Amino acid sequence: MDPSAADRSIESASGAPAGPGSEGSSAPIDSRTALEAERARLREELAATIQAPGQMTYGSQAAAASHVFEQQRDLALRDRAQQQLALVDAALVRLDAGTFGRCLRCGKPIAPERLEALPWAEHCIDCARLIAQGRG
Ligand SMILES: [Zn+2]
Repeated sequence: MDPSAADRSIESASGAPAGPGSEGSSAPIDSRTALEAERARLREELAATIQAPGQMTYGSQAAAASHVFEQQRDLALRDRAQQQLALVDAALVRLDAGTFGRCLRCGKPIAPERLEALPWAEHCIDCARLIAQGRG
């Protein structure tokens, strides 16, 4: 069942018409669905953290400090959610552009199991490792 039948198929590798009941293991595993779900989740998360309580009076320094701590933690979470949202958006753009699933650094295909786990992955595992080591 593919709800998005309107796919302008991007020159799928030669031949092999998808037979009836094909497992479709080489097709992007509903990456769009996964990405859109993640995007919705992140937006909710962002909407939830954005409403910081305005001016508050604190009974004590400790209360103020813990409030500041909470705000910083929320900000950190929000930063992460925003970065993640940017990745997800970029992946959706690549889906539309037909470049989804290719490493941005070396241009090789990203392993399907990696994309299944991280549909917004921008790099193949080799490049991701190099980048993590600061050699990107
Ligand atoms: Zn790569």
